Amino acid sequence: MDYSKERKQFSKPIAGYQLTQAKLADMVTRITEAQLLVYRLGRLKDEGNMTFQQVSMAKRNNCELARDVASISRGMLGANGVTEDYPIMRHMANIESVYTYEGTHEMHTLILGQDVTGLAAYDS
Ligand SMILES: Cc1cc2nc3c(=O)[nH]c(=O)nc-3n(C[C@H](O)[C@H](O)[C@H](O)COP(=O)(O)OP(=O)(O)OC[C@H]3O[C@@H](n4cnc5c(N)ncnc54)[C@H](O)[C@@H]3O)c2cc1C
Repeated sequence: MDYSKERKQFSKPIAGYQLTQAKLADMVTRITEAQLLVYRLGRLKDEGNMTFQQVSMAKRNNCELARDVASISRGMLGANGVTEDYPIMRHMANIESVYTYEGTHEMHTLILGQDVTGLAAYDS
């Protein structure tokens, strides 16, 4: 967001364009959703009612969100987003490893699919 306020194109900051604001609006909304999800998960854990399927839901959603936000942010930096002058590629590389080591998106999807349907889509 700081960069989009500093960077001027066509004589005004790119943050002043509707397409940039749509990206920022999506990001802040999805980050807020993700925070609410883990807030609810923490409450369930404190109450002793958290299930591993709910953990899968949070990991699946929040890792994907972080990955998407990092990617959109990289794009918003334009060519500067692929240089070492800004740390966004480091964040992208970090989230790529988290996207795997927190359990892959596919496996969390299968866990949720089984929880919703009662049918396992994988061989045990
Ligand atoms: C930086 C890092 C740190 C790690 N730290 C730990 C740790 O501390 N402790 C630990 O136990 N593990 C750790 N891991 C391992 C991590 O949990 C595994 O890499 C991860 O679970 C994926 O397993 P895999 O690499 O064997 O991939 P695979 O299981 O071979 O999966 C490869 C791809 O196939 C997909 N896939 C697999 N099965 C299916 C299916 N049935 N349907 C559709 N798609 C499928 C996967 O989603 C993935 O995209 C770490 C990994 C990394 C990268």
